Amino acid sequence: MSSSLASEAKTLLDAMGVDAAKLGGSISVSSPIDGSTIATVAEQSADDMNKAVESAHAAFLEWRTVPAPVRGELVRLLGVELRKHKEALGKLVSIEAGKILSEGLGEVQEMIDICDFAVGQSRQLYGKTIASERPGHRMMETWHPMGVCGVISAFNFPVAVWSWNTCLALICGDSVIWKPSEKTPLTALACEAILNSVIASFEQAPAALAQVVIGGPAVGEALVDNPLVPIISATGSTRMGKAVGPRVAARFGRSILELGGNNAMIVAPSADLDMAVRAICFSAVGTAGQRCTSLRRLIVHESVVDKLVPQLKKAYGSLPVGTPLDGGTLVGPLIDEAAFSMMQDSLTKAKEQGGTVTGGERVSVEQCEGGFYVRPAIAEMPAQSDVVKTETFAPILYVMTYKDFDEALKLHNEVPQGLSSCIFTLDMRETELFMSAAGSDCGICNVNIGPSGAEIGGAFGGEKETGGGRESGSDAWKGYMRRATNTINYSTELPLAQGVSFDV
Ligand code: NAD
Repeated sequence: MSSSLASEAKTLLDAMGVDAAKLGGSISVSSPIDGSTIATVAEQSADDMNKAVESAHAAFLEWRTVPAPVRGELVRLLGVELRKHKEALGKLVSIEAGKILSEGLGEVQEMIDICDFAVGQSRQLYGKTIASERPGHRMMETWHPMGVCGVISAFNFPVAVWSWNTCLALICGDSVIWKPSEKTPLTALACEAILNSVIASFEQAPAALAQVVIGGPAVGEALVDNPLVPIISATGSTRMGKAVGPRVAARFGRSILELGGNNAMIVAPSADLDMAVRAICFSAVGTAGQRCTSLRRLIVHESVVDKLVPQLKKAYGSLPVGTPLDGGTLVGPLIDEAAFSMMQDSLTKAKEQGGTVTGGERVSVEQCEGGFYVRPAIAEMPAQSDVVKTETFAPILYVMTYKDFDEALKLHNEVPQGLSSCIFTLDMRETELFMSAAGSDCGICNVNIGPSGAEIGGAFGGEKETGGGRESGSDAWKGYMRRATNTINYSTELPLAQGVSFDV
């Protein structure tokens, strides 16, 4: 399989206009499908990053004065190009990140959706007009571009996260520097080529408006520490956020942190169990459990657990595990061997902490011996022990039971992360309580659907160790702009606020 994957990747990169000079170098890119090397790319240095930031800052100084709806037109054209390259980019996501084809294509669709959203938003960067307490005065707020927006992204959404940030940053008048995951540089180079083709034909867009710099954490740190970068939007593990957040704060930069999740579903006595089983399967095993919103904890009422868990085990037993390029596959590979080892460590801990584990073993896939495929695991736990409170980026579903709803809510919120949450119930009181101030403490709170698969129209992000950032829809655009409060005096007097008198 290896040489054919490499040549397929090369064909896709060519089709999307990636300059061959970008390929070849010290970072070896492997496909999780079979572990083979599919390309090499050059690692850039901290110095390269600083030069890129300087040119992006110069580009910002031009771009900020282009009218926002014209900036929106650039993003509209990006959406047009993404539609043309949807198949190629979706397939490259599958090859490089191991997602099943349908999810690879879905990720590109999400990019197209955020382009459309951002185009509309480019005409709606509204500020408020505020009643002044002084006669002959008017107050209003205006929103202005910030500068260079630094984007650091994780391997598991190798292209969509960039587009969430970039489309909004561009319409807001910012320039963008992207440091993608060192595990997925090819899809990043493809996105760069697609956007650059649009920029090259767009008169008002400076050439250095959006750039990609390839490298690992050290190159990311150069971006994080650069005072010419007022916004750092960083997506990845909580460990990464703990390193990045304080560094940005130390120079009074703004961070948008999108970190780890440990998402739960409460299954109440009235739940539609057939729907719940389907939702659990997609959200716990989709993307092989490697979504930040993957379902990791199931909190089931003791009256339905004996019905639900056997149904789940049956469904899990028949899940097709295999190469993501095969249309029948639902569970593709883990990203690499380290992910497999972490999964096995967590399953060992789960057993030590009193759990009973079904599944979790490595699955051999023909012609893909170097890939790390697993049967998704269900771990029935006697309590919410340490291992359950830790995000393991693999398909492990911990199952716990509850007696009364308060206990379910307590278990639900008793983890350090706060990204996504959901409940399956037909009981209106439980629904409302779950979504209330005394309910789920997460940034995303769903009823009768799973925790994963968000739409771009809502603000995306979570609380606690998930970092508190918001991206994508709703008013997340405000994170990419600075607000100015303006007071205009159209009278001939000079009254002071709060009635202060200061006669000179
Ligand atoms: P990771 O933390 O290993 O790497 C993420 C990115 O951060 C990479 O580009 C990496 O090079 C960079 N990085 C790491 N340390 C850095 C540092 N000190 N300074 C600057 N950059 C640094 O994460 P991963 O394994 O690629 O992705 C999986 C994790 O990402 C999971 O925890 C998952 O929940 C999380 N994630 C969160 C969201 C969200 O929106 N909340 C979305 C996707 C993934």
